[in-house]
Amino acid sequence: MLKAAVPRCPPLLQRRWQTHHSHQPFPPDIHQWSHPPSKATVSDDEISRLAAKPRRPLTLADLVKHGKPPLRDADLLSSANFTVSLLPARLAHRIQALRNLPFIVVANPNVSTIYNNYLHSLSTLEPFYKKPIETIEEEMKFTEAMADLVRTHSNTIPTMAKGFLQCRKYIDPAEVTKFLDQHLRARIGTRLVAEQHLALHMASTGEAAKQKPDPNHVGVIDLGLRPADVIRQCEGFVGEVCELKYGVRPSLVIDGDTDAEFAHIPMHLEYIITELLKNAFRATIESGNEREPIEVTIASAPDVSTTKLQALRKLSVSEENAYDFSQDGLEEYCSSSDADIGPLNSAAPCITLRIRDRGGGIPPEALANIWSYSFTTFNNEQAAAAGGDNGTDAGLNTIASSGSDQSSIAGLGYGLPLSRAYAEYFGGGIALQSMYGWGTDVYLTLQGIGKMEEAKRAPSGYEI
Ligand code: ADP
Ligand code: MG
Repeated sequence: MLKAAVPRCPPLLQRRWQTHHSHQPFPPDIHQWSHPPSKATVSDDEISRLAAKPRRPLTLADLVKHGKPPLRDADLLSSANFTVSLLPARLAHRIQALRNLPFIVVANPNVSTIYNNYLHSLSTLEPFYKKPIETIEEEMKFTEAMADLVRTHSNTIPTMAKGFLQCRKYIDPAEVTKFLDQHLRARIGTRLVAEQHLALHMASTGEAAKQKPDPNHVGVIDLGLRPADVIRQCEGFVGEVCELKYGVRPSLVIDGDTDAEFAHIPMHLEYIITELLKNAFRATIESGNEREPIEVTIASAPDVSTTKLQALRKLSVSEENAYDFSQDGLEEYCSSSDADIGPLNSAAPCITLRIRDRGGGIPPEALANIWSYSFTTFNNEQAAAAGGDNGTDAGLNTIASSGSDQSSIAGLGYGLPLSRAYAEYFGGGIALQSMYGWGTDVYLTLQGIGKMEEAKRAPSGYEI
């Protein structure tokens, strides 16, 4: 069987690079950029075949359709088979997208680590997509493969960020933004289906199955998620990060519909709120306004109209990175081959959060870039003092010191674009309004599952 690995950079290509990019030196360590082939055994033909299969957008309803844990064996098998029906095409498509990057990028050690991770994960799925998962023993093995998949790809963000920062002299920034946006959005869905099966399995087998089931949880989905609770929890974490970094922690007030609840994925909401609070806290402290509280207002609009939501989505999209979120554009986007978002569901309950800070706002020259991956104003002074080139080294240093645990206050430049990708994944959005010289308002809208009440009442195995 053919081994699918990152190709070595042919000498001709090296010479051609030097001819066309003589103003930019070929990376001196290019020979180390070619990696040993991965142990993956999926053939190129197989990757092409899988990548050509249609991929349909994932919806929150897909994730709850196997019922509430503890699941019966038949439902667990059905969840496993549903999961495996989605993953190979998604992984193969990512492998092809990585291969299609300019050679200089895919040969970078960090990017090729990601590439090899995808090859590895696709090969671990081979035994399961070739024939249906029919026994609980097979389902156990499949669940182990899901755990491996989630683990293998957990460090993707800092690794990818580092790889693209190292290559950024050699590729068009618009191409990077497009690739990263598609890749990271697809990754959200891939992880989610794997994590959902894992969570359903855990809650349905062993000791957990004997305990009283949690009526609000369907795997990774919380049917009664309270934004106010998530905000307080994230405030605690971000406050600690601030105390470590700056020695102070601003206060935070929550107002509006503080009792609101809806059905969503806590992991996603936590990610977004943490990133938005880090930005608000950092700006508040760095502008010397740490006595001014950050204000978070919660609004719940169960019958929000599609038109309103679309208007908000339009607001949230910056010019240079524009998707067409008009009704036609949206439908086209949802059905296009690269789309990996759930459809807009106007009947679903909708929550809007406004995070308001007195951190001085965003200077106009920075505003145009805030939605680009890797754009950050963090640590620029230190980087300049150390002779770095305006942000690159700051980014690399921050990645090196912070890892993937979201525990540094800023520096990766992924907080806003990735939060927006999470919000948009299930039909929400993020809009930012800066009052330069005063502060910033960030509006986060999220849609829940339409039939929350039915879902809460649904017995195990009920299809919603
Ligand atoms: P990072 O926080 O790692 O820099 P982000 O994507 O979260 O990356 O933010 C990008 C940039 O946008 C920040 O570096 C900062 O300059 C600006 N920014 C974001 N939110 C705010 C805010 N609330 N107030 C002021 N500036 C902000
Ligand atoms: Mg940030």
